[in-house]
Amino acid sequence: MNAQRTLRRAVSCTGIGLHSGTKVTLSLKPAPAGSGIRFSRRDLGGLEIPATVAHLASISYATGLSCGEGAVETVEHVLAALVGLGVDNALVELNHPEVPIMDGSASPFVYLIHEAGVKTLNAPRRFLKVVRPIALSSGDKRIALYPSDHFKVTYSISFDHPLLRHQARTLEISEESFIEQIASARTFGFLKEVEMLRQNGLALGGSLDNAIVLGDTGALNALRFEDEFVRHKILDVLGDLALVGYPIIGHVVAHRGGHALHTAFAARILEECDAWRLVEGELDSPATGAPVMAPVKNAAALD
Ligand SMILES: [Zn+2]
Repeated sequence: MNAQRTLRRAVSCTGIGLHSGTKVTLSLKPAPAGSGIRFSRRDLGGLEIPATVAHLASISYATGLSCGEGAVETVEHVLAALVGLGVDNALVELNHPEVPIMDGSASPFVYLIHEAGVKTLNAPRRFLKVVRPIALSSGDKRIALYPSDHFKVTYSISFDHPLLRHQARTLEISEESFIEQIASARTFGFLKEVEMLRQNGLALGGSLDNAIVLGDTGALNALRFEDEFVRHKILDVLGDLALVGYPIIGHVVAHRGGHALHTAFAARILEECDAWRLVEGELDSPATGAPVMAPVKNAAALD
């Protein structure tokens, strides 16, 4: 886990955009060490949009990025799958602005990454190690990051709905825990909001095949986990915090967050540069113990 990783070969899938309803092809391709995760618009001559907070675009119902004339939307689930499986460098190619929603979870992207295979690169991975708390809140929504020896997420939600009045979960994030407990949790929406979204030209591709839809008393489709909702929130925050650009060593604690708060927090983390250090995995770490970390010298450049 101390070396950077990329994909072994290129893989593709086709699906529809949740909001546009348009058919779109997504390809995942290998990328060199240090290049990070970048989106590329094939329909705009391969225009590249790095998956970093510097390229955040304001979109209310999902996370979007832009660069010059190009934009990509609903990037969070594919980003969660990539970072969840420890892929540091990859090119995500699209022929449309919106990432396909697939089944509303990250599982189809996990399957795709497994199809491609993962390759270790001869470059150390840099981690962002939290040394003092960072917090951000907006009304009753809040998110914070605390020092910890591992990457952990605690998430809690509460809605005025009988199925999800209160759900909370803490998870230490590893490739295994991500795949088994988080990746297949689907996005969710309220039936009464769907009409409003459609009137605004959104959720045109939404159906019971790609989202849990909640009526007044329960879900219209069968759940994969009793607490699938809070698991999906963990999936979302992992995808949104991927925009920090480094794997985090720290404990994320969030309550009632959404993409706007998650992504604002990703930017806040980078701003509060005295609250963390960059540490580097040593490529020849002893096989016995925990990962050996060394402080990164001259870690000034965050672009
Ligand atoms: Zn989501």
